[in-house]
Amino acid sequence: MTTATNMTGAPGHAAAIPSDGLAALDPHRIRQDFPILDQQVNGKPLVYLDNAATTQKPRAVIDAISNYYLNNNANVHRGVHTLSQRATDDYEVGREAVRRFINAPDVNEVIYVRGTTEGLNLVAHSYGRKYFKAGDEVIITGMEHHSNIVPWQILRQEIGIRLRVVPFNDDGELLMDEYESLLNDRTRLVSVVHQSNALGTVNPIAAMAELAHARGIPVLVDAAQSVPHMPVDVQALGADFLTFSGHKLYGPTGIGALWGRSDLLNDMPPYQSGGEMIRSVTFEETIYNTLPHKFEAGTPDIAGAIGLGAAIEYLESIGMERIAAYEQALLRYGTEKLGDIEGVRLIGTAEDKGGILSFHMESAHPHDIGTILDAEGIAVRTGHHCAQPVMARYGVPATVRASLAFYNTTDDIDALVTAIDRVIEVFG
Ligand code: PMP
Repeated sequence: MTTATNMTGAPGHAAAIPSDGLAALDPHRIRQDFPILDQQVNGKPLVYLDNAATTQKPRAVIDAISNYYLNNNANVHRGVHTLSQRATDDYEVGREAVRRFINAPDVNEVIYVRGTTEGLNLVAHSYGRKYFKAGDEVIITGMEHHSNIVPWQILRQEIGIRLRVVPFNDDGELLMDEYESLLNDRTRLVSVVHQSNALGTVNPIAAMAELAHARGIPVLVDAAQSVPHMPVDVQALGADFLTFSGHKLYGPTGIGALWGRSDLLNDMPPYQSGGEMIRSVTFEETIYNTLPHKFEAGTPDIAGAIGLGAAIEYLESIGMERIAAYEQALLRYGTEKLGDIEGVRLIGTAEDKGGILSFHMESAHPHDIGTILDAEGIAVRTGHHCAQPVMARYGVPATVRASLAFYNTTDDIDALVTAIDRVIEVFG
């Protein structure tokens, strides 16, 4: 795999990050790495503010995927021939990149999945089905994405488990006392989102894990929105499982990772079965493969894994601390600007939050706002963001969500503000 070149002008990990976060990196240099951003939409320069839904891909990722298909395409782990060995090597380089990126102790604990949704389902259906009994409890929070609600509801139907939900305050911060009081002898798992996609809240995972571990309860972290925007260290967080999606991490769709402690993964049954996940098969008996292959049945998304590895190498060349510092400064800028507009109600105002600007306007439906913004070349997400309980908590059907990445600029925020002024002109 080719190492991503540092085209950002960033001085590298060792250099101090300026206290003015907006100077932490040069977004104009970074934008040159993302060809898609340089286009007009509806006659206006594209302003891409839908990064929580999916992020754009740097050239390094696109090149790594085409290099695989142009030069190395073959199935992995199956052939002695050169192409198969090259494909396998690059596929495994991607796995090691994931391990390094989240500071996992062992590369064999990194399982490729389709994305966060599959990672959560894998734990629910493998771990949950093996260990949960009727009356057992799983704790989630009120700000989960549907993918961290529905799998547990399916187990509720099948097994009779109980789902306990940690509430949050008006700013979108979890009520930690309530969390603590929900932990009890029947709790079998805490499954919690690290950064909320609807509110931006960054939850105190390390503190939550400490309380859970004191009772011997494992913690599953949905890191879909955190891994792309801040340094994430599974050991520092005290996670037992953690999952994320490649496409929100500047990598391809269809690939993601689940990391889990090997003692837990080793004792879990396979989630899917077939080729690759076996050591030997007779009609009488099948012996399963070792980690991570036990959980990777069938031909995987090889190009996706290679692209994910390239995305991680690209991000490492800039540095996640630098990215976080820049995005935090951009968030402060955006929060101030949107906060100044009369009629705009920001939803999600936690002290500790990532680059999500979710808002509601009494005067206009979110979809109408989204349509006006699109006419101005601005891409935002409108809707319930697969977090309908969050919308219900605030008494709104939907919000408009502008979500930031490190290639966004203060000019992007200014364009958003001007377009919202246009919405006010139209709807009052
Ligand atoms: N969890 C969170 C917090 C998310 O934001 C998302 C994607 N919106 C998911 C889970 C599901 O991710 P995917 O669709 O990539 O599986």
